[in-house]
Amino acid sequence: MSEVSVLYDGYSNVDEEGYMTANCTCTLIKGEHNIIVDTMTPWDSDKIIAALQKHNLKPEDIHYVVSTHGHSDHTGNNNLFLKAKHIVGFSISFHDKYYLHPFEKGEDYVINESVKVAPTPGHTLSDVTVLVRTTEDETVAIAGDLFERQEDIEDSNLWLDAGSEDPDQQRKNRLSIADAAHWIVPGHGPMFQVTDDVREFLKRQLDYIDKGD
Ligand SMILES: [Zn+2]
Repeated sequence: MSEVSVLYDGYSNVDEEGYMTANCTCTLIKGEHNIIVDTMTPWDSDKIIAALQKHNLKPEDIHYVVSTHGHSDHTGNNNLFLKAKHIVGFSISFHDKYYLHPFEKGEDYVINESVKVAPTPGHTLSDVTVLVRTTEDETVAIAGDLFERQEDIEDSNLWLDAGSEDPDQQRKNRLSIADAAHWIVPGHGPMFQVTDDVREFLKRQLDYIDKGD
């Protein structure tokens, strides 16, 4: 089993003048491998180092860095972790070596018995979600911008307005991740529980679209 700790809750806000401020949720997984998911903006390195210190970890203790997709607020400090294998969306690398993995065929990348990386395109065409078994019967999905924040379950405009390169795929993947997980760590908000109501909402949005065309 592995343990999930959210180091920083992400956020996204638009102010009165129309400027957006945003940063991603940054998450640590501890277990057989130490893994950091989404490394915030390049100006946040001190914050990440300080948060790791509270877990008695240094950047060189991290075995994998996962950026759920390639946007700048999710990759900003990947180069703090030079001992780690880097997974950025569908791309897996270490130094100048690239590992081919058929994410585009829907295949998960297994890190260990309790952690795997699943392809969940939509927000970008190469988004991934990290699925972590935290107990015998509990799974946490660290989903990046597949989910913007909890409120986007009821208000689809929140994730659509955040940018979606393929809304239909994103809708399907939102439901399949909700079906697979008990908790979701979204890209720009605090972790939330997946209730039956949440799954029902996501399913209805999919049915509505399927009938709509
Ligand atoms: Zn984002």
